[in-house]
Amino acid sequence: MTARIPHFIDGRQHPGTSGRQGDVYDPATGDVTGRVDYATAAEVHAAVKTAQAALPGWAGTPPVQRARVMFRYKALIETHLDDLAALLTAEHGKVFSDAKGEMLRGLEVVEFACGIPHLLKGEFSENVGTNIDSFSMRQPVGVVACITPFNFPAMVPLWMFPMAIACGNTVIVKPSEKDPSVTNRLAELALEAGLPKGVLNVVHGDKVAVDALLTDPGVGAISFVGSTAVGEYIYQTGCAHGKRVQALCGAKNHMLVMPDADIDKAADALMGAGYGAAGERCMAISVAVAVGDQVGDRLIEALEPRVRALKVGPGMDPDSEMGPLITAQHRDKVKGYVDLGVDEGADLVVDGRDLHLQGYENGFFLGGCLFDRVQPHMRIYKEEIFGPVLSVVRAPDFKSAVDLVNGHEYGNGTSIFTQNGDAARSFAHNCNIGMVGVNVPIPVPMAFHTFGGWKRSAFGDHGMYGMDAVRFYTKQKTVTARWPTGIAAGAEFTMPVMR
Ligand code: NAD
Repeated sequence: MTARIPHFIDGRQHPGTSGRQGDVYDPATGDVTGRVDYATAAEVHAAVKTAQAALPGWAGTPPVQRARVMFRYKALIETHLDDLAALLTAEHGKVFSDAKGEMLRGLEVVEFACGIPHLLKGEFSENVGTNIDSFSMRQPVGVVACITPFNFPAMVPLWMFPMAIACGNTVIVKPSEKDPSVTNRLAELALEAGLPKGVLNVVHGDKVAVDALLTDPGVGAISFVGSTAVGEYIYQTGCAHGKRVQALCGAKNHMLVMPDADIDKAADALMGAGYGAAGERCMAISVAVAVGDQVGDRLIEALEPRVRALKVGPGMDPDSEMGPLITAQHRDKVKGYVDLGVDEGADLVVDGRDLHLQGYENGFFLGGCLFDRVQPHMRIYKEEIFGPVLSVVRAPDFKSAVDLVNGHEYGNGTSIFTQNGDAARSFAHNCNIGMVGVNVPIPVPMAFHTFGGWKRSAFGDHGMYGMDAVRFYTKQKTVTARWPTGIAAGAEFTMPVMR
């Protein structure tokens, strides 16, 4: 059966009127399971008006009451965790245990948002002048638009809207059109938690909906996560329309394997970080840098049997370690990169292109692929592939490995596997990358820190969640107040100074 996936505006499902819809697939079978409504610009502008109307009431709600909604929301997500994860797997394809992990990482941000009264506390200075005190406060930006990618259809929206809402803003989420259902369900649960109607809205669609959000004068801030090409466009267009914009984008994450590393542990870590979620993670490790003479051979020896043994299958099969890719088109694009790597002269050690799964012939599956002797000039090294393709690059020494990491245009995450504290510390200090792991392959920060890349992996000054979320979703105001008034008579034309 094909379900219709409507917008969610002003606390209720809102079937679209554009007549335009997109197919949503079960990537394991290739079947169309849903049709998602695509909003017109007029529908988006109407949703912004709804969010604007809800703003004064919500912004004026004391933070402690906003926090209580977040506490109830946290409990509801926990109650519905398995259903949400199953919905996510049905449209994204990732294995169920990974979908639950995604839900839990998103939930951590809701937990962080429960502390909003403390997070919004301002600063106070007594007697900055005679009888004059100064204090700061953080006030909501207004209506926030959240534009999210397909690869974390629950976690990335949860990176954004709980903190935006807790800070007193109202929100419009524009989820990926490829796996939109879980965001609708998250919005319904927020309403059940006591969030007033109109505070959290979901509009679905493509570039038409996004462009309407970027240009609507009622939108104060844009949070975006997605590819670099789109993120750069969002950042430039949003800024040109006077909005505050944060855009977190594409990646090519390297993991250094030092000569003293435990090769088996490094290979195990690379399996999860390279092939987990079929490589469709912005923090996936897609390049393993083997440092020193024999590390490359030892690493390939450890990786090859592991990649060959990878259990690829539908996400709801408990034996599956890796599910399908998101669409047939994306699977073909990733396959095309594997063809390209062979043409470019890299050694294809494991070729997953011919994988056939009985009963799932129409699913968007690709087996794990492993390249050795990848060179920095190759396109398979330079570009984000976003699939189950791991490249091994051989670097003669630590310095050339660090130069390689720093020379890449992306700067999202990186990792080093070593037993040498000097090398680990030197790497963490000297790499030009936003998030660094030491013997940790996927160093995604916890909710009370901040997630964010450098270089062309991010545009704008703020990362997601942690204290950056408070800074991004609020405007700071500083009040200078004299009590009792005691103002001397007569005009004063010089700059007020305290001496
Ligand atoms: P995408 O850029 O194609 O889409 C992201 C969002 O932008 C979607 O909501 C989509 O509808 C919209 N969009 C797409 N094309 C558009 C256009 N031309 N104009 C306006 N809006 C448009 O990204 P994706 O394929 O959904 O997600 C994968 C990408 O996201 C990868 O590059 C991955 O690295 C990146 N990502 C980054 C992070 C991070 O935190 N840095 C996290 C997750 C994913």
